[in-house]
Amino acid sequence: MNWLEGYRSRELCEALAMEICRLATRPMRFMEVCGGHTRAIRKFGIPSLLPETISLLSGPGCPVCVTGRAFIDQAISLSSQEDTEVCTFGDLIRVNGNHGSLEKARAEGKQIRIVLSSLDAVEHAKRNPEKKIVFLGIGFETTAPGTAAAILKASRDGIGNFSVLSAHKLMPPAMEGIISEGIPIDGYICPGHVSTITGTRMYQPIVENFKIGCVISGFEPLDLMHSILMLIRQVLNDKPKVEIQYARAVKPMGNPEAQRMMYEVFETADEWWRGLGFLKNSGLKPKHKYYEFDARKVFDIPTFKETDPKGCICGEILKGLKTPHQCKLFARTCTPVNPVGACMVSTEGACQTWFNYEGKN
Ligand code: SF4
Repeated sequence: MNWLEGYRSRELCEALAMEICRLATRPMRFMEVCGGHTRAIRKFGIPSLLPETISLLSGPGCPVCVTGRAFIDQAISLSSQEDTEVCTFGDLIRVNGNHGSLEKARAEGKQIRIVLSSLDAVEHAKRNPEKKIVFLGIGFETTAPGTAAAILKASRDGIGNFSVLSAHKLMPPAMEGIISEGIPIDGYICPGHVSTITGTRMYQPIVENFKIGCVISGFEPLDLMHSILMLIRQVLNDKPKVEIQYARAVKPMGNPEAQRMMYEVFETADEWWRGLGFLKNSGLKPKHKYYEFDARKVFDIPTFKETDPKGCICGEILKGLKTPHQCKLFARTCTPVNPVGACMVSTEGACQTWFNYEGKN
């Protein structure tokens, strides 16, 4: 048995399933707030191992899904400016704004480049001093330190033609926003990757203020089954707390150096989330000290309205209120090849995940 197979052991999964069935004698609803978990839960058929009393809901954990259409419009408008090139991760390129996607804009001749990391964008800026390079910073606490590192490098090396259009988001305000909207959940399956950076402390207010347990989970079937069992035990004992199931990767303190870089460069700002609207202090923007690397300060960027495509219910799906099968466009006009809404674009989006693993109906 190799290392990975150990976390996919059928016997151990069945043993956990039996224990879950024994304990889960009343309804409980757990929400995952990580696109990686959304995908893994459906890919490994976790719901089929659980009793009917346990419901798993997908939350706002896929970075591409929660990014607004106005942000895409702003990126396209930047790519239309003279001598300006926009650099982005590949999964954002197919998300539609109000006026088409970055992919469509690139096909029309706009300067849009896919990069594998924020530091690639800095290197690109260094090699092309005649161009203004704008990196699209999206994602949560997982990717924000990488963007911060890029700004620090550009600052250190005097690369003045590099800037960031930030839509970085912080996970706790969204988790609190879900609870504040009155969406009934009994526990959070917390994101493994985000928590490698942040550690456990940021979940503590959720436990203290809302009495909802948080278990930081890994991504293999045994991880997820174990995390669900841990949450069930918390509910039954009426003792919500923050627990680390994914102990092989997550430490209570997280990664202090990544946190230091993130808060050296960024400060919090109000940010828009699909489904949740503007949430106070839920985003990150470069501090004044780094204003020359903030695309919103460097460029005159028009504002655009936040809208959702007609008939798309991504906002409700991201709050766990509906499932993709309840969307009339699902697998008809909206497919991974022709995505209508953002949740069908990324392999971690709830709609694409359901399309790939839950059948079309
Ligand atoms: S199936 Fe498509 S249109 Fe419907 S909610 Fe999902 S992404 Fe939006």
